[in-house]
Amino acid sequence: MKFEPVIGLEVHAQLLTRSKLFCSCSTRFDAPPNSQTCPVCLGLPGALPVINRQAVTMAVKAALALGCRVRTVSIFARKNYFYPDLPKGYQISQFDRPLGERGSVAVFSGERADGGKIVNRREKVFGITRLHMEDDAGKSIHEGLPETASKSYVNLNRTGVPLVEIVGEPDLHSSQEAYDYVVHLRKTLLYLGVCDGNMEEGSLRCDANVSIRPEGSDTLGTKVEIKNLNSFRFLQRALDYEIERQTRVLSQGGRIVQETRLWDESEGRTFTMRSKEEAHDYRYFPEPDLPPLRLDPEWLERIEAELPELPGAKMKRFMTEYALGADDALLLTATVETAAYYEECARASGNPRAAANWVMGDLAFALKNSGREIGESPVSAGDLAELIRTIDSGEISGRIAKTVFEEMSRTGEPAAGVIRRMGLRQVSDEASLAAVIDGVIAASPKQLEEYRSGKTRVLGYFVGQVMKETRGQANPGVVNELLLKKLTGA
Ligand SMILES: [Zn+2]
Repeated sequence: MKFEPVIGLEVHAQLLTRSKLFCSCSTRFDAPPNSQTCPVCLGLPGALPVINRQAVTMAVKAALALGCRVRTVSIFARKNYFYPDLPKGYQISQFDRPLGERGSVAVFSGERADGGKIVNRREKVFGITRLHMEDDAGKSIHEGLPETASKSYVNLNRTGVPLVEIVGEPDLHSSQEAYDYVVHLRKTLLYLGVCDGNMEEGSLRCDANVSIRPEGSDTLGTKVEIKNLNSFRFLQRALDYEIERQTRVLSQGGRIVQETRLWDESEGRTFTMRSKEEAHDYRYFPEPDLPPLRLDPEWLERIEAELPELPGAKMKRFMTEYALGADDALLLTATVETAAYYEECARASGNPRAAANWVMGDLAFALKNSGREIGESPVSAGDLAELIRTIDSGEISGRIAKTVFEEMSRTGEPAAGVIRRMGLRQVSDEASLAAVIDGVIAASPKQLEEYRSGKTRVLGYFVGQVMKETRGQANPGVVNELLLKKLTGA
């Protein structure tokens, strides 16, 4: 029997505010442990929470960008559980009246072919169930496994940091779709400037619900939750593992147990964390210390009107305006900065195809080697555009352009300056090229004879020699034409 995976993701994103959700403590990541706490985030008796306006604005932006309907009145609720890094004994979250609901995202998603290449990338719509706000718990650090640790440490700097939780519909049917979906969410939050998307520092965290069912069936199988997926690669590997494990269990006549599992990257497998019987009952109730969160409809409209162009829309515009394929458009809109750089270069050069190749090729390579972001590129978009125009006008060849670009990224000098200083202008002048060609022919009697006896392949040899003599500066078109004339004696 063939099985179909059904996957739903819960993504937690830390909002980029300077202070916490209900107090004025700093949210800086690398401060000394427990230095950023106060009576409110420590849950001391009598301390009262006050909502952070900036956090609400950011959460509303995220909800709108994900197509959610935003409630003008939402309610905070206590989610009760005990954990050493949760001093209040509860998280302040939202339960039955969350900030945003019933959204969707259009994601360009593909299939993974053998060898890992992504093929058939096309637009797919995935539902968003809800988006709600909550405060984060602290961090526990264990020496060894949590169960057997000899020492555990608690850092409460993260306690009370604002999060949005984005709960997706179980619309994903492969690990690649899950990957593309979460990359799209991250990109959207980055475009909005509401999250830094740093998975290593935990600014973006992901849990996955996975089940499988016989292909064609529309009832859901028993689901398993996987936690601890703190990179895109872990997410994809954990899903692949879990889909395979569940398929094996069902194929052998077994039964899937509803449980929470953890991903162990070093062993490349998931393992049981807790079964359904041990699942939490959070005993949600409305937070008595906070009034309902009321949003002015006019303010909401203004926020919506001020949203930037979002990744999906930008991608589609690039595909039509610059005739790019989905894969290229995806890469060129990876960040707001990359998209802006590309667009400036495409327009100024008048050659969007060449601009795409340079930005994804030589420029990306040079930036990677020097550990720079595109915003710090020594070659500006305008300078790269000028280089492309220089190639298109025939002033330099594509091969020489590579040398010019290397020099530009080394020195930050514009193309014209490099070409002049290094004497790299393409030679198209027939008289001077004819002299070089005569020299090459005279020095290669054997090849000349071969050519004249019908082995026309040796033309390549002559072209190569002329290029060598002119340090690659000869115009290949002119060289070919002249060579043919001289070799055939015409
Ligand atoms: Zn505080």
